Amino acid sequence: MIILVVNAGSSSLKYQLIDMADESMLAKGNCDRIGIDGHISHKTSDGRGFEADMAFPTHTEAFMALVDALTKGDAKVIDSMDEISAVGHRIVQGADVFDKSVLVTDEVIDKIDELRELAPVHNHAHALALRACKSVIPDSVPQVVVFDTAFHQTMPPKAYMFGLPYEDYETLHVRKYGFHGTSHRFVSAALAEAMGRDIKDLKIVSCHLGNGSSITAVDGGKSVDTSMGFTPLDGVVMGTRTGSVDPSAVTFVADKHHFTPSEMSEYMNKKSGFLGVSGVGSDNRDVQEASLHGNERAKLVSDMLTYEIQKYIGSYAAAMNGLDAILFTGGIGENSWEVRESVCRNMDFFGIKIDEELNRTIRGKLTKLSTPESKVEVWIVPTNEELLIARDTLALISQ
Ligand code: ADP
Repeated sequence: MIILVVNAGSSSLKYQLIDMADESMLAKGNCDRIGIDGHISHKTSDGRGFEADMAFPTHTEAFMALVDALTKGDAKVIDSMDEISAVGHRIVQGADVFDKSVLVTDEVIDKIDELRELAPVHNHAHALALRACKSVIPDSVPQVVVFDTAFHQTMPPKAYMFGLPYEDYETLHVRKYGFHGTSHRFVSAALAEAMGRDIKDLKIVSCHLGNGSSITAVDGGKSVDTSMGFTPLDGVVMGTRTGSVDPSAVTFVADKHHFTPSEMSEYMNKKSGFLGVSGVGSDNRDVQEASLHGNERAKLVSDMLTYEIQKYIGSYAAAMNGLDAILFTGGIGENSWEVRESVCRNMDFFGIKIDEELNRTIRGKLTKLSTPESKVEVWIVPTNEELLIARDTLALISQ
């Protein structure tokens, strides 16, 4: 059974074709610059592929190019779209409307579009892509939507409410939603399996660290708190995003710079974080390199990140009244031994001890880093959001 996984943004459409017989990736690619001009890059698992410029005025043309890439030419992997059993879509914001993955209907697409106010960059693009997909791929192929927020719908009100007037929660739906839920769900389940334990008996802090980063407290397999909030801006310092800031600093800066709300949002989402503090760039590798060469601000932002992660680990251990394991995932979590080492140092109070030699040599592989005497297990668990979307899709169409 073959499943197409789609991750649509406002100007891009990333895709992966997965063979569920062995959960292997057959092909993947990206149609980007939609609405600008258009470019496709396509690769198969056996090393074939191509790149081309083509016109993508809307998501519909991008879907048509994706279908052609999969079914025609030198880099095709199937003969026709009839071989695809279903399409699974990643959706950023499901708010408190969607607490699990669902089959796509016209009403579901409308609801995703209605939630656009809560995720202006993403949800409308998802709705456009869902409609485009329906116009290109036959109705006989079911579609499923998987939400980044759904895993966090188990958070209790004390974790998701802000101290704002209650009416704004009721009327404007302002609350913490949390993101990266697909990743946190995938890696926490994979960790429990690797530990040979029932996830219901585990208290895990899941650190997804990439361009966007979030930390989640997973108690008994359920998200009970998470660092991202109403939008993916909250929590730890990120590539270009601030992470948590005193709200008064936001109104103060907006006032001083005469920023409109959307200008302030751009400033906090695109010009801050590693980029804004270090002045070097948004990529962790560049920041680490500069830090090694004595750049003080690059070192400062690296220190800020690890300090903030340590504080989340401490507060989530308190929130769960215990801690069995910490896991690292995402581009930084899987690859940066420096970040993992800094986070796990000076955590003796929790009885955390990792094998530093091992940590320095391992990248991107499921690995237990903690020593046998460590009271808390520490692991690298590579994430695979596409695979989880494909699994959810398969589960829903098999019902
Ligand atoms: P996104 O959130 O966009 O999915 P990723 O999870 O791919 O991002 O993570 C991107 C981040 O991972 C970048 O900051 C990058 O520098 C960092 N990263 C990737 N490889 C390494 C590495 N070998 N060492 C340190 N950081 C790395």
